[in-house]
Amino acid sequence: MKKTDFLGNELIFECLSCSIANKKTEIPGGLIFESKNFAVYQDPFVPLPGFLVFSSKRHIKAINEMSVKEYNEFFALVEKGRKIIKKYIPMEKITVVQEDKAEHFNIWFFPWTKEIVTNYGEPDKRKLAYILNDLRSEKITPAKWKELSETVEIIKKEINSKL
Ligand SMILES: [Zn+2]
Repeated sequence: MKKTDFLGNELIFECLSCSIANKKTEIPGGLIFESKNFAVYQDPFVPLPGFLVFSSKRHIKAINEMSVKEYNEFFALVEKGRKIIKKYIPMEKITVVQEDKAEHFNIWFFPWTKEIVTNYGEPDKRKLAYILNDLRSEKITPAKWKELSETVEIIKKEINSKL
């Protein structure tokens, strides 16, 4: 499959999550975190600060395919990420979405930033589909990418530091 990221680069992949998590497909900002089993990255189609994807490196469809050890590592990582973005990105609320109907299981964060709330109103999960539809069609300017990449770098530094 082919898709264009928010910088206008073409990404080619079979399974996008596998491809990104295993660094076969390069994305803006690269991997924010990686371990043997998992990877964290800025969604390459949604240029919203804090919109992180937590993905397994293995191609699994649902959480029940994780070992207990993997499960614990994964949720500790998600929790660490959540704390970091709440600390650094001003937002009203964060919605954590567990996508297990997808081809490749992952969890992502939707931060209800001031800009989002100004444009779309109060946080409400039911609005996510159309907000994402808007955000996904957005290509960003170099200046906006510079701003976003600074946030990515901060998250990278924090998530790789010890608790
Ligand atoms: Zn996969």
